[in-house]
Amino acid sequence: MYRTQAFIIDESGLRPSEMALGTRSSRRHNDLDRLTIQKQWNLGITSEVDLPEDFDPSTASPLDERFNTEVKPDLGEMLRQFDISYFQGKIKGYRIEWNASLITAYGRTNFSQNKISISKFRHQGQRRSVLVKSILHQAIHAYLDKLGLNRRENAAHGKDFKIEKSRISKALGEDIASRDDVNWTQAEEFISAHQCTKCKKILYRRKGQDPNKVKPYTRVYHDCPGSFRPIKMMETYRAKE
Ligand SMILES: [Zn+2]
Ligand SMILES: [Zn+2]
Repeated sequence: MYRTQAFIIDESGLRPSEMALGTRSSRRHNDLDRLTIQKQWNLGITSEVDLPEDFDPSTASPLDERFNTEVKPDLGEMLRQFDISYFQGKIKGYRIEWNASLITAYGRTNFSQNKISISKFRHQGQRRSVLVKSILHQAIHAYLDKLGLNRRENAAHGKDFKIEKSRISKALGEDIASRDDVNWTQAEEFISAHQCTKCKKILYRRKGQDPNKVKPYTRVYHDCPGSFRPIKMMETYRAKE
């Protein structure tokens, strides 16, 4: 299917100036064409994805392993497609970007700025499914805010959040809160988890940062005689669920 399209463009679609660029130019056209076709499925597929020719979108989910790419996918394109698929286009206008200082969570939504931040280090080297679930989680927050839900209740993952979460999970055929697909060894290349020996509070830090020694933070957020000890990142999620 794609080969046929590329063939038509190569034969008749190129102007002489584009011809001079040779295969790179025709490849770019080919990628754009493919993306146009893939966008109609709204599975969160970006131009980085190289699909097999026999790919069947009718049975695929956004968590499909075949959408994995070496390069970081286009977040804006993914959000746009999920908005159409699951949120009736209600979160149109929301921006989404990678955030290198967001360590404590996979993502964050700023309602007043209409902005979703996605943690760079929590997704680096991870499967695309981890990212898809992070985007969808934040998209639910954004969607509920657009519907006018109380912001505190929304941020606390209240009843309405849970309803939306099960709706999306059902559509995907997998719980979007599941961390089963996270490669914890990979995650701990960038982030370390620590737990207080007394109050059991959990902190996440860039690898190599000792939370007991980062004084200003410790004073502001942790008024407790306990100290932080390393804990496996995986354990911190087990404890929550
Ligand atoms: Zn949340
Ligand atoms: Zn404590």
